[in-house]
Amino acid sequence: MERAPDAPIFDPAAFRLTEQEAELTARAREFGQKVLAPRAARWDREASFPTENYQDMHREGLLGICIPKEDGGLGAGFRAYCLTAAELGRYCGATALTWNMHVCSTLWTGALTEDLEMDAVTRAEHRLRRRQHYERILKDGAVYSQPFSEGGAAAAGTVAFGTTARRVQGGFVVNGKKIFASLAGHADYYGILATEQHDDHKLSRRDTLYLAVPANAAGVTVEGDWDPLGMRGTVSRNLVFRDVFVEEDAALMPPGLYHQAATRWPHMFLTLSPTYMGLAQAAYDFTVAYLRGEWPGTPPVKRRMYPTKQIAVAEMRVMLEQTKALWFQAITEAGPDPSKEQVLRAWAAQHTVMENANALAAKAVRTCGGQSMLKSLPLERIYRDSRCGSLMLPWTAELCIDRLGRDCLYEKGETDT
Ligand SMILES: Cc1cc2nc3c(=O)[nH]c(=O)nc-3n(C[C@H](O)[C@H](O)[C@H](O)COP(=O)(O)OP(=O)(O)OC[C@H]3O[C@@H](n4cnc5c(N)ncnc54)[C@H](O)[C@@H]3O)c2cc1C
Repeated sequence: MERAPDAPIFDPAAFRLTEQEAELTARAREFGQKVLAPRAARWDREASFPTENYQDMHREGLLGICIPKEDGGLGAGFRAYCLTAAELGRYCGATALTWNMHVCSTLWTGALTEDLEMDAVTRAEHRLRRRQHYERILKDGAVYSQPFSEGGAAAAGTVAFGTTARRVQGGFVVNGKKIFASLAGHADYYGILATEQHDDHKLSRRDTLYLAVPANAAGVTVEGDWDPLGMRGTVSRNLVFRDVFVEEDAALMPPGLYHQAATRWPHMFLTLSPTYMGLAQAAYDFTVAYLRGEWPGTPPVKRRMYPTKQIAVAEMRVMLEQTKALWFQAITEAGPDPSKEQVLRAWAAQHTVMENANALAAKAVRTCGGQSMLKSLPLERIYRDSRCGSLMLPWTAELCIDRLGRDCLYEKGETDT
């Protein structure tokens, strides 16, 4: 028995999606259901990288989803990307999450930088430079990753990155270590954040550089094993950079621009949430199909007539609708220089998606019962993958609560002394 095509997470008419959003989400859903879903168990079992998925996504044009149209891409903006990514996340969390790292390398350097301040010369140079990266992606299917985390406080945004880039003739020399580097050993370029090192200055967050280090550059090594609870196909091993020379053109943003982006366009950090929005929907979809006795590969036993099941599904539906509504509002109002209210809402949305995806999956296991959590079915993978959402820096569930609590009670500059 094959599953019927899934309904959209966000119905285009009900949520008033644009034509482009409706088209992209429909494509992603069909691709996800047909191509990603049947392979997802393999990446999870092996903790191996979904290389075939990337080859297929290249063919589908999905690697260039956020590359501006004038540069040959599909030109999706922030919301169109988030909605499309959620559809993929329903079918393979690890593919959607790693695809997010890749796509953000183009979204942040593309549409997002158009909202930031640069002088005309810098902007012209940036546009030329990013085009080289975009061409590699569109023509050769090059894959970019985003290894930012270092195990200290830098990825949370509180101190400068310890990975350094020293300016030399024709480029930079990079030294440092990144942990949890999704796509390690599989991306063609590692889009790292490094602090530009000035001889006489302390490292400063304002000097953050965003550089695309070729995976085959001398001095780049992948270290450590990878055998985690969930999101196993992300292959997030450690990356070490020892005196790695990168050319000037490796800069994905001009100096100082990443800091401007992080402070003026904070919704950029909401881009880790779409995968988990998709997983939340997947947990609900599984539960409904399973209780109706319609999940392929399971006996056609109906369990929907029990009041306990009906109550559980009703509660799941309430949680799913709450999650969708808040997230949709937050991704809709993303943009430069948001108001304080909008930033608070973005943190609340991130927290809600990340926590509720796992809460829904946990409830799905409890409601569907023992047979539903066998490895032959996707629910237990959804449960494990969704557990990872609240750990993702810089907007972990804890940090969202920390910032919300403080900023709900204090206005800028206020103290109690
Ligand atoms: C599946 C997966 C894939 C990942 N892929 C990538 C990737 O591609 N690139 C990348 O850069 N990172 C990636 N990460 C890393 C992730 O974003 C975190 O950096 C990583 O989980 C940090 O783990 P840690 O135990 O060192 O966290 P710690 O830094 O020790 O933090 C532990 C917890 O303490 C809290 N905390 C941290 N700092 C503060 C603070 N200043 N104030 C208050 N509370 C704080 C947070 O809630 C955090 O969850 C990935 C993580 C996972 C799980």
